[in-house]
Amino acid sequence: MLFDRLIGIFSVDMGIDLGTCNTLVSVRGQGIVLNEPSVVAVKKGTNQVLKNGEAVGWTAKEMLGKTPGSISAVRPLKDGVISDFEITEAMLSYFIRKVNGRSKIIGPRVVVSVPSGITAVEKRAVFDSCERAGARRTYLIEEPIAAAIGAGLPFAEATASMIVDIGGGTTEVAIMSLADIATCESVRVAGDDMDEAIINHMKRTYNMMIGEQTAERIKIEIGSAAPVEQDRSIEVRGRDMISGLPRKTEVSSEEIRQALQEPVQAIIEAVTRTLERAEPELAADLVENGITMAGGGSLLRGLTQVVQKATGLTTVLADDPLTCVARGTCIYLEHLEEWKSTLENDMDS
Ligand code: ADP
Ligand code: MG
Repeated sequence: MLFDRLIGIFSVDMGIDLGTCNTLVSVRGQGIVLNEPSVVAVKKGTNQVLKNGEAVGWTAKEMLGKTPGSISAVRPLKDGVISDFEITEAMLSYFIRKVNGRSKIIGPRVVVSVPSGITAVEKRAVFDSCERAGARRTYLIEEPIAAAIGAGLPFAEATASMIVDIGGGTTEVAIMSLADIATCESVRVAGDDMDEAIINHMKRTYNMMIGEQTAERIKIEIGSAAPVEQDRSIEVRGRDMISGLPRKTEVSSEEIRQALQEPVQAIIEAVTRTLERAEPELAADLVENGITMAGGGSLLRGLTQVVQKATGLTTVLADDPLTCVARGTCIYLEHLEEWKSTLENDMDS
């Protein structure tokens, strides 16, 4: 509409990938402008966000696990769902205001990608948060669709595409065709559960407590889903559970691979279950089109190979998996006028 275009001069169009680990904001015509952890610092035992304004994103993530008595750093979307509406809203407002700035007179139009598994109540909460944070109009787009657009899959064509988006809290598996999701599954097993598996391994095998950040570092540095060419070891520091004192130990990539078997298997099962439910014609297309993996969790070494082996389908990693959904929402913004009628997931309608 002409009116919308005119208004565009005074306002921006913003895409938000509201992830359980990271929130990425893009602006139409500019690309990704913000990429920060989905973490908020609050007064301990309350959901009161710290007032200094620096309590969201990177600054808050640095506080995770290290906060002094009166403050705690929380991830409001930790388990793939919005575990705390108020904190999520505070985080969304902070990011929207940060990007929208004071230069624009009129509130932005916002496209938010949300996990396909979230409930109507949670969708409503995201929608309301954006409106309260000053959005002029809010559209919700399902994350697998955004990931498919970002990965350059022919999601709007009459052929099936399959995306596996492994984030921090959830893994979204979807088969799409004609700009719609034909079959999908959202499981609450993803990157965080890999970290958790490493924490448990360290407890069981070494009587050693390690923090989430340390577990994530072990996963990224030496973790894998399949045997790697060369076994590697790294030094890990934590607290001895018996003496209570700090100490260090060596862990090998092979033992971490073993420790990661459970979450990796759960992800593979979600993929095969989704394939089993696909219509035969769509399944036939996938023999040609294969599977594309996105999200930070898909960066685990050897994971694409393991999925390929389990399904027999060509499995590839999307370019820059961590920004795939955000780039998808940004492309969606460029086509908002044209696509919103087909993809619209608008709370008003
Ligand atoms: P979300 O969309 O839920 O915010 P992301 O797509 O940002 O999640 O992915 C975050 C997850 O990816 C975290 O669990 C992080 O530890 C994991 N991750 C990031 N890089 C790597 C890597 N190189 N290897 C394995 N996991 C990774
Ligand atoms: Mg994501």
